[in-house]
Amino acid sequence: MTRKGAATLVAEKKKQNNATKVASPKIEIVRKDVKHINLKVKPSGEVILTAPTDSNKRDIEYVLKKRADWIDKKIAFFDAHRDVHEKEYVSGENFCYLGRNYRLKVIECRDLEGVKLRRGYLQVFVKDTANYEKKQRLIKAWQTQKAKRHFQKAIEKYKPIVKQEIETVRIREMKTRWGSCNPSKGYINLNLKLIEKPTECIEYVVFHELAHLVHADHSVKFYNYLNLFMPDWKKRKIRLEK
Ligand SMILES: [Zn+2]
Repeated sequence: MTRKGAATLVAEKKKQNNATKVASPKIEIVRKDVKHINLKVKPSGEVILTAPTDSNKRDIEYVLKKRADWIDKKIAFFDAHRDVHEKEYVSGENFCYLGRNYRLKVIECRDLEGVKLRRGYLQVFVKDTANYEKKQRLIKAWQTQKAKRHFQKAIEKYKPIVKQEIETVRIREMKTRWGSCNPSKGYINLNLKLIEKPTECIEYVVFHELAHLVHADHSVKFYNYLNLFMPDWKKRKIRLEK
């Protein structure tokens, strides 16, 4: 997956004779009563630039060029964390669970609706096989139930290392992060989507967040701590982001 760098784009835009069309990030320029030029990248990949009412084109281009790397990184990050396409919940569709692929099988049933993992299939038993919301709800409930169990397992494994009080663990649907931690309150949030990933990746995110209870920020001390208790965390991180 390649995306043209913003720096290249600024340069190419100036070369008007270059007829090759490049896919460029959509940049919206908003003029406002503000002091400085401000940049924001939305999860959609859209770039919003807020500029003082009296700023000129050159100022704006200068900022876009200077922050090109940052823009690229932001866009790449959102790209990597966005669902490629929404699920359709039809038989044959692929679903990941703990790093393995399962094909969905939608099965009509009379009474008990639910989800089962059987013979390499993710089977969804539903009264009305065309009911999209119902299928989505059933699968999400199943994923949440599995997530609770597997995330808890990882927490139990690493809790004795960090020896800190964990107040609340929440499983949430997050667009941009795999997990987060509020060290002062002892809150841990974990992304429901993690249940699709291999156990070693779940453990990496869990330990990363738990480690924040010891070292709140991403300091050298934090990474030394990770290296000490999870020497292969980088390998796990790469696998997670793949
Ligand atoms: Zn962190």
